[in-house]
Amino acid sequence: MALSGLDIYKLLPKTNCRKCGLATCLAFAMQLAKKALAVEKCPFISAEAKTILEEQALPPIKPVILGGDNLKFELGNETVMFRHEEKFRNPAALGFIIEDNLADSKIRGQIEKINQLKFERVGQLLEVNLIAIKQNTGADRFLEVSELVLNNTVLPVMLISGDIDALKQAAAVAAVRRPLLYCATKDNFSQIAAIAKEFQLPLVAAAQDIDELAHLTKGLNALGIRDLILDTGEKNVADKIWDLTQLRRQALKKSNRALGYPSLAIVDKTDPYEEAMEAAAYIAKYAGIVLIKGLESWEVLSILTLRQNIYTDPQKPLQIEPKLYPVGKTTKESPVLITTNFSLSYYTVLSEVEASKIPSYILSVDTEGMSVLTAWAAEKFNAESITKSLDKCAIRDVVVHKNLIIPGYVAILSGDLEEQSGYKVIVGPKEAAGIPVFLKNLN
Ligand code: SF4
Repeated sequence: MALSGLDIYKLLPKTNCRKCGLATCLAFAMQLAKKALAVEKCPFISAEAKTILEEQALPPIKPVILGGDNLKFELGNETVMFRHEEKFRNPAALGFIIEDNLADSKIRGQIEKINQLKFERVGQLLEVNLIAIKQNTGADRFLEVSELVLNNTVLPVMLISGDIDALKQAAAVAAVRRPLLYCATKDNFSQIAAIAKEFQLPLVAAAQDIDELAHLTKGLNALGIRDLILDTGEKNVADKIWDLTQLRRQALKKSNRALGYPSLAIVDKTDPYEEAMEAAAYIAKYAGIVLIKGLESWEVLSILTLRQNIYTDPQKPLQIEPKLYPVGKTTKESPVLITTNFSLSYYTVLSEVEASKIPSYILSVDTEGMSVLTAWAAEKFNAESITKSLDKCAIRDVVVHKNLIIPGYVAILSGDLEEQSGYKVIVGPKEAAGIPVFLKNLN
Protein backbone atom coordinates (compact mmCIF):
# COMPACT_ATOMS: atom_id res chain seq x y z
CA MET A 1 0.00 0.00 0.00
CA ALA A 2 1.13 3.56 -0.65
CA LEU A 3 2.43 5.35 2.43
CA SER A 4 0.34 8.21 3.76
CA GLY A 5 1.84 11.58 4.70
CA LEU A 6 1.78 10.54 8.35
CA ASP A 7 3.53 7.23 7.58
CA ILE A 8 6.24 9.15 5.76
CA TYR A 9 6.52 11.68 8.60
CA LYS A 10 7.41 8.85 10.98
CA LEU A 11 10.45 8.08 8.77
CA LEU A 12 11.75 11.68 8.80
CA PRO A 13 14.17 13.21 11.38
CA LYS A 14 11.37 15.43 12.86
CA THR A 15 13.75 18.32 13.62
CA ASN A 16 11.91 20.91 11.51
CA CYS A 17 15.28 22.31 10.45
CA ARG A 18 13.82 23.79 7.19
CA LYS A 19 16.77 22.69 5.05
CA CYS A 20 14.33 21.11 2.59
CA GLY A 21 12.71 24.49 2.04
CA LEU A 22 9.58 23.67 4.03
CA ALA A 23 8.68 24.86 7.49
CA THR A 24 8.25 21.43 9.04
CA CYS A 25 9.03 17.76 8.51
CA LEU A 26 5.27 17.14 8.37
CA ALA A 27 4.87 19.58 5.47
CA PHE A 28 7.74 17.84 3.68
CA ALA A 29 6.11 14.44 4.32
CA MET A 30 2.84 15.66 2.80
CA GLN A 31 4.68 16.83 -0.33
CA LEU A 32 6.45 13.45 -0.61
CA ALA A 33 3.12 11.64 -0.32
CA LYS A 34 1.84 13.72 -3.25
CA LYS A 35 5.08 12.91 -5.14
CA ALA A 36 5.59 16.68 -5.48
CA LEU A 37 9.14 16.62 -4.07
CA ALA A 38 12.13 14.27 -4.22
CA VAL A 39 13.30 12.55 -1.07
CA GLU A 40 16.85 13.94 -1.67
CA LYS A 41 15.61 17.40 -0.64
CA CYS A 42 16.06 16.32 2.98
CA PRO A 43 19.80 15.93 3.62
CA PHE A 44 19.28 14.30 7.03
CA ILE A 45 17.12 11.38 6.09
CA SER A 46 18.48 7.95 7.09
CA ALA A 47 19.60 5.47 4.42
CA GLU A 48 16.91 3.02 5.54
CA ALA A 49 14.13 5.60 5.29
CA LYS A 50 15.46 6.74 1.93
CA THR A 51 15.27 3.20 0.54
CA ILE A 52 11.68 2.82 1.73
CA LEU A 53 10.66 6.17 0.27
CA GLU A 54 12.42 5.57 -3.04
CA GLU A 55 10.54 2.31 -3.35
CA GLN A 56 7.34 4.29 -2.86
CA ALA A 57 8.25 6.56 -5.74
CA LEU A 58 8.60 3.61 -8.14
CA PRO A 59 5.90 2.94 -10.75
CA PRO A 60 3.05 0.72 -9.45
CA ILE A 61 4.26 -2.16 -11.65
CA LYS A 62 8.01 -2.29 -11.41
CA PRO A 63 9.91 -2.14 -14.69
CA VAL A 64 12.01 -5.30 -15.01
CA ILE A 65 14.71 -5.64 -17.66
CA LEU A 66 15.39 -9.09 -19.09
CA GLY A 67 18.44 -10.02 -21.14
CA GLY A 68 22.03 -8.87 -21.25
CA ASP A 69 23.78 -5.92 -22.84
CA ASN A 70 23.51 -7.28 -26.40
CA LEU A 71 19.76 -7.81 -26.42
CA LYS A 72 17.40 -6.81 -23.69
CA PHE A 73 13.83 -5.67 -23.23
CA GLU A 74 11.74 -4.09 -20.51
CA LEU A 75 8.61 -5.50 -18.95
CA GLY A 76 6.13 -3.92 -16.56
CA ASN A 77 5.95 -0.18 -15.88
CA GLU A 78 2.26 -0.32 -16.80
CA THR A 79 0.03 2.36 -15.37
CA VAL A 80 -3.49 1.67 -16.63
CA MET A 81 -6.00 -1.18 -16.61
CA PHE A 82 -7.44 -0.28 -19.99
CA ARG A 83 -5.61 0.75 -23.11
CA HIS A 84 -8.00 3.64 -23.87
CA GLU A 85 -7.14 5.29 -20.51
CA GLU A 86 -3.67 6.07 -21.87
CA LYS A 87 -1.68 3.24 -23.46
CA PHE A 88 0.04 0.00 -22.57
CA ARG A 89 3.78 0.56 -22.45
CA ASN A 90 5.90 -2.57 -22.66
CA PRO A 91 4.61 -5.29 -24.98
CA ALA A 92 4.18 -8.74 -23.48
CA ALA A 93 7.25 -10.85 -24.23
CA LEU A 94 6.60 -13.96 -26.31
CA GLY A 95 8.92 -16.85 -25.47
CA PHE A 96 9.33 -20.49 -26.44
CA ILE A 97 9.94 -23.51 -24.24
CA ILE A 98 12.74 -25.85 -25.29
CA GLU A 99 12.93 -29.09 -23.34
CA ASP A 100 16.28 -30.66 -22.51
CA ASN A 101 15.17 -34.27 -23.14
CA LEU A 102 15.13 -33.69 -26.91
CA ALA A 103 18.06 -34.64 -29.14
CA ASP A 104 20.60 -31.92 -29.94
CA SER A 105 19.66 -31.94 -33.63
CA LYS A 106 16.01 -31.34 -32.77
CA ILE A 107 16.91 -28.54 -30.36
CA ARG A 108 19.18 -26.90 -32.94
CA GLY A 109 16.30 -27.02 -35.41
CA GLN A 110 13.96 -25.40 -32.89
CA ILE A 111 16.44 -22.62 -32.13
CA GLU A 112 16.97 -21.96 -35.82
CA LYS A 113 13.21 -21.67 -36.33
CA ILE A 114 12.85 -19.32 -33.37
CA ASN A 115 15.69 -17.12 -34.64
CA GLN A 116 13.86 -16.73 -37.93
CA LEU A 117 10.56 -15.66 -36.36
CA LYS A 118 10.68 -12.03 -37.50
CA PHE A 119 7.92 -10.34 -39.45
CA GLU A 120 7.35 -6.94 -40.94
CA ARG A 121 3.83 -5.63 -40.55
CA VAL A 122 2.60 -2.12 -41.36
CA GLY A 123 6.17 -0.88 -41.31
CA GLN A 124 7.06 -2.36 -37.91
CA LEU A 125 9.30 -5.30 -37.15
CA LEU A 126 7.55 -7.92 -35.03
CA GLU A 127 9.94 -10.12 -33.07
CA VAL A 128 9.82 -12.84 -30.46
CA ASN A 129 11.64 -12.27 -27.20
CA LEU A 130 13.08 -15.19 -25.34
CA ILE A 131 13.81 -18.90 -25.09
CA ALA A 132 12.96 -20.80 -21.93
CA ILE A 133 15.09 -23.90 -21.34
CA LYS A 134 13.19 -26.48 -19.31
CA GLN A 135 14.91 -29.22 -17.34
CA ASN A 136 13.32 -32.65 -17.70
CA THR A 137 16.49 -34.70 -17.22
CA GLY A 138 19.68 -34.52 -15.16
CA ALA A 139 21.76 -31.48 -14.21
CA ASP A 140 24.48 -32.24 -16.78
CA ARG A 141 22.05 -32.39 -19.67
CA PHE A 142 20.31 -29.20 -18.53
CA LEU A 143 23.66 -27.43 -18.51
CA GLU A 144 24.56 -28.87 -21.92
CA VAL A 145 21.28 -27.71 -23.47
CA SER A 146 21.57 -24.30 -21.82
CA GLU A 147 24.98 -23.89 -23.47
CA LEU A 148 23.59 -25.10 -26.78
CA VAL A 149 20.85 -22.48 -26.66
CA LEU A 150 23.20 -19.71 -25.52
CA ASN A 151 25.62 -20.49 -28.35
CA ASN A 152 22.96 -20.48 -31.03
CA THR A 153 20.75 -17.51 -30.29
CA VAL A 154 21.15 -13.93 -29.15
CA LEU A 155 17.70 -13.99 -27.57
CA PRO A 156 17.45 -13.59 -23.80
CA VAL A 157 16.93 -16.87 -21.95
CA MET A 158 14.94 -18.20 -19.04
CA LEU A 159 16.05 -21.22 -17.01
CA ILE A 160 13.30 -23.54 -15.74
CA SER A 161 14.40 -26.09 -13.19
CA GLY A 162 13.31 -27.50 -9.88
CA ASP A 163 16.87 -28.61 -9.12
CA ILE A 164 18.71 -25.88 -7.21
CA ASP A 165 22.20 -27.13 -8.11
CA ALA A 166 21.33 -27.50 -11.79
CA LEU A 167 19.81 -24.04 -11.82
CA LYS A 168 22.90 -22.56 -10.19
CA GLN A 169 25.26 -24.18 -12.68
CA ALA A 170 23.21 -23.00 -15.67
CA ALA A 171 22.82 -19.52 -14.13
CA ALA A 172 26.60 -19.25 -13.79
CA VAL A 173 27.12 -20.16 -17.45
CA ALA A 174 24.38 -17.81 -18.67
CA ALA A 175 25.04 -14.97 -16.20
CA VAL A 176 26.25 -12.40 -18.76
CA ARG A 177 22.97 -12.83 -20.63
CA ARG A 178 21.09 -12.17 -17.37
CA PRO A 179 18.74 -15.19 -17.59
CA LEU A 180 15.39 -15.19 -15.83
CA LEU A 181 15.32 -17.90 -13.14
CA TYR A 182 12.26 -20.08 -12.66
CA CYS A 183 11.16 -20.29 -9.94
CA ALA A 184 11.12 -19.28 -6.27
CA THR A 185 8.41 -20.89 -4.15
CA LYS A 186 7.63 -20.75 -0.45
CA ASP A 187 9.75 -23.88 0.03
CA ASN A 188 12.92 -22.89 -1.82
CA PHE A 189 12.90 -19.11 -2.01
CA SER A 190 15.95 -18.45 0.15
CA GLN A 191 18.10 -20.84 -1.94
CA ILE A 192 16.88 -19.43 -5.27
CA ALA A 193 17.24 -15.88 -3.95
CA ALA A 194 20.88 -16.65 -3.13
CA ILE A 195 21.52 -17.63 -6.78
CA ALA A 196 19.69 -14.55 -8.06
CA LYS A 197 21.68 -12.36 -5.71
CA GLU A 198 25.04 -13.92 -6.52
CA PHE A 199 24.62 -13.41 -10.28
CA GLN A 200 22.33 -10.33 -10.13
CA LEU A 201 19.51 -12.09 -11.98
CA PRO A 202 15.75 -11.57 -12.25
CA LEU A 203 13.58 -14.24 -10.70
CA VAL A 204 10.08 -15.69 -11.09
CA ALA A 205 8.13 -15.93 -7.82
CA ALA A 206 5.47 -18.63 -8.00
CA ALA A 207 2.45 -19.45 -5.86
CA GLN A 208 -1.04 -20.62 -6.81
CA ASP A 209 -2.69 -18.26 -4.36
CA ILE A 210 -2.33 -14.49 -4.80
CA ASP A 211 -2.02 -13.72 -1.07
CA GLU A 212 0.65 -16.37 -0.79
CA LEU A 213 2.40 -14.82 -3.79
CA ALA A 214 2.39 -11.40 -2.10
CA HIS A 215 3.86 -12.98 1.03
CA LEU A 216 6.56 -14.63 -1.11
CA THR A 217 7.57 -11.41 -2.87
CA LYS A 218 7.86 -9.66 0.49
CA GLY A 219 10.17 -12.44 1.63
CA LEU A 220 12.25 -12.10 -1.52
CA ASN A 221 12.38 -8.30 -1.12
CA ALA A 222 13.66 -8.78 2.41
CA LEU A 223 16.49 -10.84 0.92
CA GLY A 224 17.31 -7.98 -1.46
CA ILE A 225 15.61 -9.38 -4.59
CA ARG A 226 13.74 -6.67 -6.47
CA ASP A 227 13.58 -7.84 -10.11
CA LEU A 228 10.64 -10.22 -9.95
CA ILE A 229 8.11 -11.77 -12.31
CA LEU A 230 4.92 -13.26 -10.84
CA ASP A 231 3.41 -16.64 -11.68
CA THR A 232 0.24 -18.15 -10.26
CA GLY A 233 0.96 -21.49 -11.91
CA GLU A 234 -0.94 -23.76 -14.23
CA LYS A 235 -4.71 -23.12 -14.22
CA ASN A 236 -7.61 -23.21 -16.63
CA VAL A 237 -7.83 -20.18 -18.91
CA ALA A 238 -10.64 -18.44 -17.01
CA ASP A 239 -8.88 -18.80 -13.65
CA LYS A 240 -5.57 -17.67 -15.13
CA ILE A 241 -7.14 -14.55 -16.65
CA TRP A 242 -8.78 -13.88 -13.30
CA ASP A 243 -5.37 -14.11 -11.58
CA LEU A 244 -3.63 -11.90 -14.14
CA THR A 245 -6.39 -9.31 -13.82
CA GLN A 246 -6.28 -9.40 -10.04
CA LEU A 247 -2.50 -8.94 -10.03
CA ARG A 248 -2.83 -5.89 -12.26
CA ARG A 249 -5.73 -4.51 -10.24
CA GLN A 250 -3.96 -5.02 -6.93
CA ALA A 251 -0.89 -3.19 -8.22
CA LEU A 252 -2.67 -0.29 -9.91
CA LYS A 253 -5.86 0.20 -7.94
CA LYS A 254 -4.85 -1.00 -4.48
CA SER A 255 -1.21 0.15 -4.64
CA ASN A 256 -0.20 -3.30 -3.45
CA ARG A 257 3.56 -3.13 -3.91
CA ALA A 258 4.01 -6.80 -3.14
CA LEU A 259 2.16 -7.60 -6.36
CA GLY A 260 3.53 -4.72 -8.42
CA TYR A 261 5.57 -6.82 -10.86
CA PRO A 262 5.06 -8.12 -14.39
CA SER A 263 3.38 -11.51 -14.61
CA LEU A 264 4.01 -14.76 -16.46
CA ALA A 265 1.66 -17.20 -18.19
CA ILE A 266 2.72 -20.58 -19.56
CA VAL A 267 0.51 -22.11 -22.23
CA ASP A 268 0.51 -25.89 -22.30
CA LYS A 269 -1.52 -26.93 -25.34
CA THR A 270 -0.60 -29.29 -28.14
CA ASP A 271 -3.17 -27.96 -30.61
CA PRO A 272 -1.64 -24.83 -32.22
CA TYR A 273 -5.03 -23.11 -32.64
CA GLU A 274 -5.85 -23.56 -28.97
CA GLU A 275 -2.34 -22.51 -28.03
CA ALA A 276 -2.60 -19.32 -30.11
CA MET A 277 -6.01 -18.46 -28.64
CA GLU A 278 -4.83 -19.00 -25.08
CA ALA A 279 -1.66 -16.98 -25.64
CA ALA A 280 -3.75 -14.19 -27.19
CA ALA A 281 -6.07 -14.16 -24.17
CA TYR A 282 -3.12 -13.78 -21.78
CA ILE A 283 -1.53 -11.04 -23.84
CA ALA A 284 -4.82 -9.15 -23.85
CA LYS A 285 -5.24 -9.62 -20.09
CA TYR A 286 -2.28 -8.65 -18.78
CA ALA A 287 0.60 -11.13 -18.93
CA GLY A 288 4.09 -9.64 -19.09
CA ILE A 289 5.55 -12.86 -20.50
CA VAL A 290 3.74 -15.62 -22.39
CA LEU A 291 5.51 -18.90 -23.06
CA ILE A 292 4.40 -21.28 -25.79
CA LYS A 293 5.87 -24.30 -27.59
CA GLY A 294 4.46 -23.88 -31.11
CA LEU A 295 6.97 -22.61 -33.65
CA GLU A 296 4.85 -22.38 -36.78
CA SER A 297 5.20 -18.95 -38.32
CA TRP A 298 1.45 -18.60 -39.00
CA GLU A 299 0.72 -19.17 -35.32
CA VAL A 300 3.43 -16.84 -34.06
CA LEU A 301 2.51 -14.10 -36.54
CA SER A 302 -1.12 -14.17 -35.40
CA ILE A 303 -0.05 -13.78 -31.76
CA LEU A 304 2.44 -11.00 -32.57
CA THR A 305 -0.15 -9.17 -34.67
CA LEU A 306 -2.55 -9.17 -31.77
CA ARG A 307 0.22 -7.95 -29.48
CA GLN A 308 1.09 -5.17 -31.90
CA ASN A 309 -2.50 -4.00 -32.02
CA ILE A 310 -2.87 -4.01 -28.24
CA TYR A 311 0.38 -2.24 -27.56
CA THR A 312 0.12 0.59 -30.07
CA ASP A 313 -0.71 3.95 -28.58
CA PRO A 314 -4.44 4.49 -29.28
CA GLN A 315 -3.81 8.23 -29.48
CA LYS A 316 -1.06 7.86 -32.08
CA PRO A 317 -2.11 5.91 -35.14
CA LEU A 318 0.61 3.87 -36.79
CA GLN A 319 2.04 6.03 -39.51
CA ILE A 320 4.70 6.00 -42.15
CA GLU A 321 6.90 8.79 -43.43
CA PRO A 322 4.84 10.99 -45.75
CA LYS A 323 6.63 10.95 -49.11
CA LEU A 324 6.58 9.57 -52.65
CA TYR A 325 7.24 5.83 -52.76
CA PRO A 326 8.22 4.13 -56.02
CA VAL A 327 6.84 0.59 -56.34
CA GLY A 328 8.60 -1.64 -58.87
CA LYS A 329 10.70 -0.37 -61.77
CA THR A 330 9.01 2.97 -62.19
CA THR A 331 9.51 5.30 -65.14
CA LYS A 332 8.49 8.86 -65.89
CA GLU A 333 5.22 7.43 -67.28
CA SER A 334 4.26 5.46 -64.17
CA PRO A 335 0.88 6.22 -62.57
CA VAL A 336 0.74 8.19 -59.31
CA LEU A 337 -1.70 7.02 -56.63
CA ILE A 338 -2.52 9.25 -53.69
CA THR A 339 -3.23 7.98 -50.18
CA THR A 340 -2.60 9.01 -46.57
CA ASN A 341 0.32 8.23 -44.28
CA PHE A 342 -1.80 5.95 -42.04
CA SER A 343 0.26 2.73 -42.12
CA LEU A 344 -2.66 0.46 -42.76
CA SER A 345 -3.90 2.61 -45.69
CA TYR A 346 -0.45 2.81 -47.24
CA TYR A 347 0.40 -0.88 -46.87
CA THR A 348 -3.01 -1.95 -48.18
CA VAL A 349 -2.52 0.20 -51.28
CA LEU A 350 1.08 -1.00 -51.59
CA SER A 351 0.15 -4.68 -51.57
CA GLU A 352 -2.50 -4.14 -54.26
CA VAL A 353 -0.13 -2.12 -56.45
CA GLU A 354 2.46 -4.88 -56.08
CA ALA A 355 -0.19 -7.46 -56.97
CA SER A 356 -1.02 -5.48 -60.14
CA LYS A 357 2.63 -5.81 -61.26
CA ILE A 358 2.34 -2.31 -62.76
CA PRO A 359 5.20 -0.12 -61.53
CA SER A 360 3.62 2.92 -59.88
CA TYR A 361 4.26 5.74 -57.44
CA ILE A 362 2.32 6.01 -54.20
CA LEU A 363 2.22 9.47 -52.67
CA SER A 364 1.53 9.24 -48.96
CA VAL A 365 0.19 12.59 -47.78
CA ASP A 366 0.87 13.72 -44.22
CA THR A 367 -2.49 13.33 -42.47
CA GLU A 368 -0.98 12.74 -39.02
CA GLY A 369 -1.60 9.05 -39.46
CA MET A 370 -5.32 9.31 -40.20
CA SER A 371 -7.01 7.04 -42.73
CA VAL A 372 -8.52 8.45 -45.93
CA LEU A 373 -12.07 9.25 -44.81
CA THR A 374 -11.09 10.31 -41.29
CA ALA A 375 -8.43 12.63 -42.67
CA TRP A 376 -10.85 14.05 -45.24
CA ALA A 377 -13.44 14.70 -42.51
CA ALA A 378 -10.75 16.36 -40.38
CA GLU A 379 -9.63 18.46 -43.37
CA LYS A 380 -6.18 16.89 -43.32
CA PHE A 381 -6.64 15.19 -46.69
CA ASN A 382 -7.79 17.86 -49.10
CA ALA A 383 -6.72 19.68 -52.26
CA GLU A 384 -4.36 21.89 -50.28
CA SER A 385 -2.52 19.13 -48.36
CA ILE A 386 -2.24 16.93 -51.46
CA THR A 387 -0.89 19.80 -53.57
CA LYS A 388 1.61 20.61 -50.83
CA SER A 389 2.80 16.98 -50.83
CA LEU A 390 3.10 16.99 -54.64
CA ASP A 391 5.28 20.10 -54.48
CA LYS A 392 7.36 18.69 -51.64
CA CYS A 393 8.25 15.55 -53.59
CA ALA A 394 8.84 17.59 -56.77
CA ILE A 395 6.42 15.40 -58.73
CA ARG A 396 7.04 17.44 -61.89
CA ASP A 397 10.61 16.15 -61.96
CA VAL A 398 9.57 12.57 -61.30
CA VAL A 399 6.84 11.94 -63.90
CA VAL A 400 6.12 13.59 -67.23
CA HIS A 401 2.35 13.00 -67.30
CA LYS A 402 -0.21 15.16 -65.49
CA ASN A 403 -2.50 12.53 -63.92
CA LEU A 404 -3.23 11.74 -60.30
CA ILE A 405 -5.29 8.83 -58.99
CA ILE A 406 -7.23 9.54 -55.80
CA PRO A 407 -9.20 7.09 -53.62
CA GLY A 408 -12.80 6.62 -54.76
CA TYR A 409 -14.13 7.63 -51.34
CA VAL A 410 -12.84 11.18 -51.79
CA ALA A 411 -14.02 11.72 -55.38
CA ILE A 412 -15.46 14.97 -54.08
CA LEU A 413 -11.93 16.41 -53.99
CA SER A 414 -11.50 16.15 -57.78
CA GLY A 415 -12.49 19.68 -58.78
CA ASP A 416 -10.54 21.53 -56.10
CA LEU A 417 -7.49 19.31 -56.54
CA GLU A 418 -7.40 19.83 -60.31
CA GLU A 419 -7.65 23.56 -59.77
CA GLN A 420 -4.94 23.76 -57.11
CA SER A 421 -2.48 21.22 -58.45
CA GLY A 422 -2.89 21.74 -62.18
CA TYR A 423 -3.10 17.94 -62.58
CA LYS A 424 -5.93 15.89 -64.07
CA VAL A 425 -7.59 13.86 -61.32
CA ILE A 426 -8.70 10.30 -62.00
CA VAL A 427 -11.00 8.78 -59.39
CA GLY A 428 -9.73 5.37 -58.38
CA PRO A 429 -11.63 2.49 -56.77
CA LYS A 430 -13.22 2.93 -53.34
CA GLU A 431 -11.62 -0.22 -52.02
CA ALA A 432 -7.92 -0.98 -52.43
CA ALA A 433 -8.83 -4.46 -53.67
CA GLY A 434 -9.98 -2.84 -56.90
CA ILE A 435 -6.57 -1.31 -57.65
CA PRO A 436 -5.04 -4.13 -59.75
CA VAL A 437 -7.96 -4.20 -62.22
CA PHE A 438 -8.15 -0.42 -62.20
CA LEU A 439 -4.45 -0.02 -63.06
CA LYS A 440 -4.61 -2.65 -65.77
CA ASN A 441 -7.52 -0.82 -67.44
CA LEU A 442 -6.00 2.62 -67.00
CA ASN A 443 -4.75 3.10 -70.53
S1 SF4 B 1 15.19 18.96 5.81
FE1 SF4 B 1 14.48 17.02 6.60
S2 SF4 B 1 14.68 17.23 8.78
FE2 SF4 B 1 14.77 19.29 7.98
S3 SF4 B 1 12.65 20.01 7.97
FE3 SF4 B 1 13.00 19.13 6.01
S4 SF4 B 1 12.30 17.05 6.26
FE4 SF4 B 1 12.60 17.83 8.30
